[in-house]
Amino acid sequence: VFSIFLGATIIAGIIALIVFLVGGSDIVLSPETKYGMVFDAGSSHTSLYVYKWPANKENDTGIVSQALFCNVEGPGISHYVNDPVKAGESLRACMEKALTLIPEDRHQETPTFLGATAGMRLLREKNSSQADRIFEEISKILAQFPVNFQGAQILTGKDEGSFGWITVNYILGTLVKYSFSGEWIQPPMAEMVGALDLGGASTQISFLPLDPIADPSTQGTFRLYGFNYSIYTHSYLCYGQNQMQKRLLAHLVQIRPSEVVRNPCYHGGYEDMTSLADLYDTPCVQNSQNFGPMQNIRVEGTGNPEACYSAIYSLFNFSTCQGQKDCAFDGIYQPQEHGQFYAFSGFYYTFHFLNLTDGQSLYTVNRTIWEFCQKPWKQVEASYPGQKQRLPTYCTNAMYILILLTKGYKFDDATWDNIHFRRQAAGTDIGWSLGYMLNMTNMIPAEAPVIQMTESY
Ligand code: AMP
Repeated sequence: VFSIFLGATIIAGIIALIVFLVGGSDIVLSPETKYGMVFDAGSSHTSLYVYKWPANKENDTGIVSQALFCNVEGPGISHYVNDPVKAGESLRACMEKALTLIPEDRHQETPTFLGATAGMRLLREKNSSQADRIFEEISKILAQFPVNFQGAQILTGKDEGSFGWITVNYILGTLVKYSFSGEWIQPPMAEMVGALDLGGASTQISFLPLDPIADPSTQGTFRLYGFNYSIYTHSYLCYGQNQMQKRLLAHLVQIRPSEVVRNPCYHGGYEDMTSLADLYDTPCVQNSQNFGPMQNIRVEGTGNPEACYSAIYSLFNFSTCQGQKDCAFDGIYQPQEHGQFYAFSGFYYTFHFLNLTDGQSLYTVNRTIWEFCQKPWKQVEASYPGQKQRLPTYCTNAMYILILLTKGYKFDDATWDNIHFRRQAAGTDIGWSLGYMLNMTNMIPAEAPVIQMTESY
């Protein structure tokens, strides 16, 4: 019986192969894969993300995944004011890497975007023609590649926040679900997560509040898969990690003008030389002392967490919100926060470094940051060999994150556990770029997609 069965199976296999070779229509080939690319031109660096999805499921939710991540060599594009050609050239290597991954016959149809965020927003504020020149050079280079390049642009803060929210909810599959009864349903609101993004120059908070949004300038509305969404979103320019470092230093120089500045957020024993030209080279910092640009200052760490906390705290304007309900800081409206939050980018990097991404309580987070900031520089250096470049900044960044989340956004002991510090979900990096591509390619239709009944196996 077994040999008859085996013989029949082999014959059936041979028939299937013949049908396949002569192009029989009953055999379903694996669906073709489509690709899309986004350059995330951040303030401190640029990354290229290549996404892929099965063509026959283009409009389904959660189907797009990350196929490649490439770190562009060099600083963020806003740093190329003196050599805009180099800004374009810097993108070549990642683009070439992406093209080796994507099958050649797909190149021409691959939508490719470059989105720039707060670094370029600041440069445009300072000198718009310099920003235009950089975009010109970038577009020139990207247009040379055999892809469907759809342009380079600066995202508004509101878009950056909204696309971050869309990305994370798209990946988690919380935007829409296909029910057993065969229709698209909106999952319970409680399943949708908020997005906390911390870049080098700005930070974004986006979530679905319980109450109606009282200030329309903070409202992002979209229709996805047949449902309307109205989220709260705000981007704080100059509140990214690197701009915060500059603002802190400028504040310390201002309260005690001298050629030697003591920084309580640097570890004791750490020393650094900073050029004032560099420090005041941003609209986030005012040169109220009118220091000459050629001057250099020496910065000495004192490793004092209390003083560090109050110096960073003073960079927020809390008085404009005093006595007001639903106000975060700098007079910005924020409704009662609600639900779970994913905190990514700088939030993740800094807390990951301090081993604080595994659901530690607010008490533990506080204690860890306090202890870390007090460590002498020699000890820190010895504990983390080979990480010298970012090492001096983690205490400031961590202290800043603590103040931003608790005093700024008002997370407390009870709600702290709702924040999940993550870099990725389902193998895809969390950031605005996936949501941006989905939007630009109309891959999240306003109306519910038609379910394709012919499944391929
Ligand atoms: P960006 O996305 O370039 O605006 O960067 C976000 C923030 O995270 C900036 O303050 C960067 O300096 C910082 N950052 C970027 N990559 C890393 C990393 N691998 N480790 C630690 N911090 C990082």
